[in-house]
Amino acid sequence: MTVKTMEPKAEHHESSMFEAVLARLDVAAKIYGLSEEVANVLRNPQKQVKVSLPVMLDNGKVQVFEGFRTVHSTVLGPSKGGIRYAMDVNDDEVKALSAWMTFKCAVANLPYGGAKGGIKCDPRKMSVTELERLTKAYTIAMADVFGPDRDIPAPDMGTSGREMAWLVDAYNKVHRGDFPGVTTGKPVGLGGSLGRDAATGRGVMVATLAALKKMNLDPKNVTAAVQGFGNVGSHAARLLSEQGIKVCAIGDHTATFWNEKGIDVHAALRYAKENGGILKGFTGGVEIINTELLTANVDVLVPAALQNVITEEIATQIKAKLIVEGANGPTTPEADHILNEKKIIVVPDILANGGGVTVSYFEWVQNKSGYYWPEEEVNTKHDASMNLAFETVWDNTTQFKTSMRIGAYITALKKVELGIKAKGVF
Ligand code: NAD
Repeated sequence: MTVKTMEPKAEHHESSMFEAVLARLDVAAKIYGLSEEVANVLRNPQKQVKVSLPVMLDNGKVQVFEGFRTVHSTVLGPSKGGIRYAMDVNDDEVKALSAWMTFKCAVANLPYGGAKGGIKCDPRKMSVTELERLTKAYTIAMADVFGPDRDIPAPDMGTSGREMAWLVDAYNKVHRGDFPGVTTGKPVGLGGSLGRDAATGRGVMVATLAALKKMNLDPKNVTAAVQGFGNVGSHAARLLSEQGIKVCAIGDHTATFWNEKGIDVHAALRYAKENGGILKGFTGGVEIINTELLTANVDVLVPAALQNVITEEIATQIKAKLIVEGANGPTTPEADHILNEKKIIVVPDILANGGGVTVSYFEWVQNKSGYYWPEEEVNTKHDASMNLAFETVWDNTTQFKTSMRIGAYITALKKVELGIKAKGVF
């Protein structure tokens, strides 16, 4: 097994997410021996667009919103990445997430580059009609950035299939045609793919099983804790428990629960469904505090909610032997160093949560061919793709005697470097 690492500590400015990406990129580039020229191309996003969006509110007043889209790379294909609606969306975060998408798509073997977008807004404080006008204004402002063969958005935090359907509608009107492949994550029936909803959680489950196999652990004797009970966390917890893993802790922003005998995840899902999507008031476990879930006495920890939750301080207290990152960026570079020292295996975000973009790619392929696959076919293709990505990263991790995070970056760098060199630079 891995992970004796001589990895240099990744240095970065703590407040910048993009700096955190560059810190990992620099470590991987050094270990792999990436040329300075190629590293420099990847340090600088290809295109950054910022728009102002005057939108009529329901009360007749006009509010101006800020919209962002960063295309980090199109070396391996059209850029791909979600659109986030949140008050803390900013240039730095969008840039960081766009670079992660480049690496994630390369690790997952998809013919895509990376991008990310967002609007600074609080979707929970806006009406449905305001959100529709905002989404359509953003799409029209980005009409020359997006395109089924150019830049393909998807949902992210604060957006869903609903926003993607509005986006397609506005894009179709600007470009006078029918372009379902301009975005993914659409509702099933409007060009969406079966299996997309659970795909990221499914990928987390497949990656967990693959890692346990390397560690010679039988899922039936393994316990887990899952932070976050939204799209990624709820499907991950359900699918892990269906594989015989005892999920002892779950939690969301309203409450966290512990049950030594294992939480009945299906009961928790039913509870959340009946209670506005939240876990507060669930009685299938004792209530614990949020950070206790991260340091709980379990074998597998799945952070599937927020970024930067595994800090240096938390890392020193983590008891899990395996961390599978459902969320994007849940571990700080400083915490990485401690986890490496403790020989905890971390299946990194750019590998572990790649199931979502993989099934987005299948959606795009189905849109292009106009032929839709049954769910079993989507799942079978997804699992094969995820297992291949895991094995490739594992091989690079072993070959370069490094952590799986840096092994994943090296996997991506190899592919992007090949693309940059083969296409040439002028
Ligand atoms: P979501 O909005 O559906 O769910 C987020 C969950 O996190 C909710 O249950 C929420 O209550 C919980 N949460 C929020 N604050 C919390 C806190 N302080 N403590 C504990 N839980 C908290 O979002 P999602 O789509 O599940 O995304 C979660 C993460 O996974 C994000 O980092 C996202 O970028 C990443 N991700 C999502 C996908 C996807 O397909 N949805 C794909 C790749 C990566």
